Amino acid sequence: MAKAPVLTIRGLTKHYGGLVALNNLDLNVGQGDIYGLLGPNGSGKTTTLSIVMGILRQNRGNYYWFDQTPGYQSRMKIGSLIEEPVFYPYLTLNDNLKILARIKGISDGHINQVLGASNLLKRKYSRFKDLSSGLKQRLAIGATLLGDPDVLVLDEPTKSLDPEGFSDLRNIIQQESQKGKTVILASHILDEVEKVCTHVGILKSGELAMEGKVEDILSGKQVVYISTGDGEKARQVLAECPLIEKYEQEKSSDFKVLLRQKNAPADLNQYMFNQGVVLSRLVKQKNTLESEFLQLMK
Ligand code: ATP
Repeated sequence: MAKAPVLTIRGLTKHYGGLVALNNLDLNVGQGDIYGLLGPNGSGKTTTLSIVMGILRQNRGNYYWFDQTPGYQSRMKIGSLIEEPVFYPYLTLNDNLKILARIKGISDGHINQVLGASNLLKRKYSRFKDLSSGLKQRLAIGATLLGDPDVLVLDEPTKSLDPEGFSDLRNIIQQESQKGKTVILASHILDEVEKVCTHVGILKSGELAMEGKVEDILSGKQVVYISTGDGEKARQVLAECPLIEKYEQEKSSDFKVLLRQKNAPADLNQYMFNQGVVLSRLVKQKNTLESEFLQLMK
């Protein structure tokens, strides 16, 4: 059964003067997805999230939350952290969260829960300005949970976080996902995205370069490294090999080979053997989001 749509973006275009920051962007986020919006600096991630949170206006295109034109109702179902968190510097964390709770129309009862999720209970009566930048970021992430929203939208949430903060963030995201909530996060940190996200959209110069399930992307084409005693013969066989997309000769008898989709390293080994080339080494390279990402950005 198809998942209920949470965020649907169609033909979104944004210009800053003469600069095209987003160009006809389409995205699809379904209920329960942990969706990583990836892309190099300046590719349009913050612009996209700012538009869908109503902070910026697009020049063309539309977006829909929960299959509807966005409005107050949908806004109240989303907890977001875009750019710098805004808190009152001279107020305590407790007072800052009380104000936020009032804005969201909920009781103060959730404040300890939020501080607990951010590992900041001990700092409940510290002034915001006295927190380090990583602790401020933890608070900002925790504050998005106020009111138990259906969706979290987080722009670069790992900014300033230490390894413990990373791990807490991952726990928050996974707990929300287990409750059936949806998380959309923009990040540079591919390794983190790979560990936590179920889906990714990769932006390149304001356009969608790829969108899909992380597991499909990672189970795609396989890179293998092979070595053989007869490099010249191996090169001739590889040049004609129908199982591979391309190869590079790294040293006289060492090659890096990109297999076509659905072909396994063992198939290559068999093929080479049948053509009279015995491999002395065959090593699989683990496909990572990073290697896919770098390939796409070429
Ligand atoms: P980063 O990873 O560096 O945060 P990003 O993917 O979030 O980048 P955006 O911040 O959306 O990218 O920026 C997209 C493009 O729009 C960039 O070229 C950026 O310089 C430009 N841009 C963003 N905001 C403005 C602005 N207010 N005025 C002019 N240009 C802008």
